[in-house]
Amino acid sequence: MFFRRKKEEIGVRRRIVLTKQITDSIITYAKSWHPNEGILILQGKKDKNLIRVTGLVIPPFSTHGPFYSGFPMYELPFDLSYIGTIHSHPGGSNKPSLEDLNHFFGLVSVIICHPYEVQNIAAFDRNGYNMELETE
Ligand SMILES: [Zn+2]
Repeated sequence: MFFRRKKEEIGVRRRIVLTKQITDSIITYAKSWHPNEGILILQGKKDKNLIRVTGLVIPPFSTHGPFYSGFPMYELPFDLSYIGTIHSHPGGSNKPSLEDLNHFFGLVSVIICHPYEVQNIAAFDRNGYNMELETE
């Protein structure tokens, strides 16, 4: 899949906000899939450079392995509230893999790594750049 990228988007720092409830759900989900990866779709709203996550959706027909998790995008209903994904890394790094960047979906990729605490959560944009992440 090829995504056309607008020039002005490059270099813009986006912020992402996760509510306490979303954060707790992500942590619980990641732990439940350990030692495999878990993946969820993020629902939310984008306002200028602020992305607020408001919900989580379990993707249909998702696959989970120790090094890969994913879902067929063509099975997804077209929904503008789907703004990205969150997946877990059972290893100790929350950096996106090349595979993650090649399968980027939406505006943001959130990754939580083992041992799945709040401080193990990181967010990246399509180019693999760190996004500022806030939990409230
Ligand atoms: Zn990954």
